[in-house]
Amino acid sequence: MRRLLTFALVALLSACSTPALRPDTVRSDVREITDLAEIAPALAESRARTLLVLDIDDTLLTSDAFFGSDAWYAWQKTLAADDPGKVPCLFDVIALNYEAGTQHPTQPDGPTRINALPVDKLLLTSRGANYRGGTLRTLHENGYALPAMLGGRSDGLIWDFRKSSDSRPVRVVYDQGLFMTTGQDKGRTLLELLGRLRLHYDRVLLVDDGQANIDAMRAALRSAGIDYLGLHYTRVDKTPDPAAGRAGWQHWRTLLEANYPQRLQEMEQGKCGS
Ligand SMILES: [Mg+2]
Repeated sequence: MRRLLTFALVALLSACSTPALRPDTVRSDVREITDLAEIAPALAESRARTLLVLDIDDTLLTSDAFFGSDAWYAWQKTLAADDPGKVPCLFDVIALNYEAGTQHPTQPDGPTRINALPVDKLLLTSRGANYRGGTLRTLHENGYALPAMLGGRSDGLIWDFRKSSDSRPVRVVYDQGLFMTTGQDKGRTLLELLGRLRLHYDRVLLVDDGQANIDAMRAALRSAGIDYLGLHYTRVDKTPDPAAGRAGWQHWRTLLEANYPQRLQEMEQGKCGS
């Protein structure tokens, strides 16, 4: 009997101390939303210690014009090499767009609503770490406050993320509440960040317009034993505007030709900076 009690106690203790090893008990849910007002009630559904993770492009902010927008980026990939709208050195042109471009909130009350949420928050973007200047500017211009650093840190973190041991390293940067992941898996980069910060959350709530990001986060958190609610935000129209896309590049090209002809020549020769 005593041995049985000891066995029962050990079993109970191990069940309490290893929830992360039991992904079958993880709560994982995804919903579609069209209004950021739905975040607050979703947060309130659970008393678990929750981290709110917010995407930027087409979730908090969206481009004023089709040229340079998320939809434009997707459209670029569909173009033939000789299409007049196809830009050379896509990520160099994106850098120019982030520096020069303007954006607006995806909904007028977005900044007020997001700033008012009293939870631990993180902005998690696929934008490259080299686009930080323009990203901070547009967030500021639109009234989005930068979230406090998690864990009360004052300094940031920079490291080379590798998808697998033989993958090329990709620089990711977390600073000023903004985590720039340079196109890497949002779920896995978030887990690495939390590990480096030595932080644990019982639940993560992600708001993102990208289905692939919603799914990647779900897979990563499930394997880590963290509860998840993905809010797939579908408010922003993604219909391409090919005429605006082609005109946008021709305007940039004219400006580059006049002011920075050598750079344009290099880009058109495939010598890309990023
Ligand atoms: Mg997005």
